[in-house]
Amino acid sequence: MKKWPLHWKILLGMVLGIGFGIVLTQMEGGVDFSSKFIKPFGTIFIKLLKLIAIPLIVASLIKGISDLKNISKFRNIGLRTIITYVVTTVIAISIGLLLVNLLKPGEGIDQDTINTLTSTYANDSNVQSKISEAGRQKSSGPLQFIEDMVPDNAIGAMSNNSLMLQVIFFTIFLGISMLLVGEKQAEPLKKIFDSLNSVVLKMVDLIMLSAPFAVFALLTNVVVSSDNPELLLALFKYAIVVLIGLLLMVVFYALVIMVYTKKSPFWFLSKISPAQLLAFSTSSSAATLPVTMERVEEHLGVDKEVSSFVLPVGATINMDGTSLYQAVAAVFIAQALGFELTFADQLTIVVAALMASIGSAAVPGAGMVMLVIVLESIGFPADKLAVGLALIFAVDRPLDMCRTVINVTGDAAVSMFVAKSVGKLGEPKAQNWDDHYDEVK
Ligand code: ASP
Repeated sequence: MKKWPLHWKILLGMVLGIGFGIVLTQMEGGVDFSSKFIKPFGTIFIKLLKLIAIPLIVASLIKGISDLKNISKFRNIGLRTIITYVVTTVIAISIGLLLVNLLKPGEGIDQDTINTLTSTYANDSNVQSKISEAGRQKSSGPLQFIEDMVPDNAIGAMSNNSLMLQVIFFTIFLGISMLLVGEKQAEPLKKIFDSLNSVVLKMVDLIMLSAPFAVFALLTNVVVSSDNPELLLALFKYAIVVLIGLLLMVVFYALVIMVYTKKSPFWFLSKISPAQLLAFSTSSSAATLPVTMERVEEHLGVDKEVSSFVLPVGATINMDGTSLYQAVAAVFIAQALGFELTFADQLTIVVAALMASIGSAAVPGAGMVMLVIVLESIGFPADKLAVGLALIFAVDRPLDMCRTVINVTGDAAVSMFVAKSVGKLGEPKAQNWDDHYDEVK
């Protein structure tokens, strides 16, 4: 057991967590027991990961930029990253649209099921809060997200995990200025950040020691708080279409890794698997980010000059799984409620889902907020929004878990792609005692 690779231990924790969750749902007081005595361990784990996210982004991005020696290299990496992110997202949306139009999951759903789902969820406070949150986001102008990216207080930005883009902006600004003042002046500051970077990466390793136990707690909690299994079954076809799409995205990443970087896709997937399993358990690419960074740098061999920029930016703006889900969900809702979609509407979905995936926060359930905006972009009636969301709400959590895995895998694949394209993909320098408990003593 001690020598088991980390991903097997995490997987075991997940399976046991699901099993224990099922047992608890059968026991009187089981749900209460889970929320009082099991859930806190999962929450602590997520808090620990979030705790180190900002120091890790700052330290690693400063190290990445200052190692570059010249700004044009950074511009080169930045441009390639953004273009690749847009391309992979458009591919994901297109796959989603293709599948949902081909398999038409919305047409098979009968009126009784629609009525049951509507009466169960349309007035649910969770559904209503997603709609009002979307209204808040939409009321801002088209350039608002650029305005939001620029902080007016660096410490303020660093004190709020949801302001990751502001932190990235400030850090890039600082890093570029360090390049400009020259090596001699910047050296003391660089040394501090280099050291901070190594220390925080070690914190990731330490936190990961508790990952198998934490995912046990997280999944127990997901099972005990999940919805009526009959409703899940009614949405089976829709869920399958999303899952097929997500699987096709994995195949797409695997092909890119194999053809472009000449590495084995199985090797890629096994090295990144601890991050994928955490993405699944936490439903948050932001919480998973420290682990994704550690895996990509130390286990996939991507140079920090690339990963330190590509991954934090990706966690915030690149969500291939989320955008694929939004395309499928929007068309599914339209099909189920008999709302005709023209070809132009489908093109609108591509643009709206692309913007929505950029605007979605990397936290559980965020994709559904932006789905409201996608629906509105195709003229979906405002008074039917709650009914639309009610149709897919029952399966949203399990699908969120799966799409977050793809969001994280996409970021990792793009970082390998960009690294290869700028000659920064080397051999992994795995300081992988995180896989071996005995070395930690
Ligand atoms: N939970 C997703 C993430 O953190 C976002 C979403 O699709 O809701 O990547």
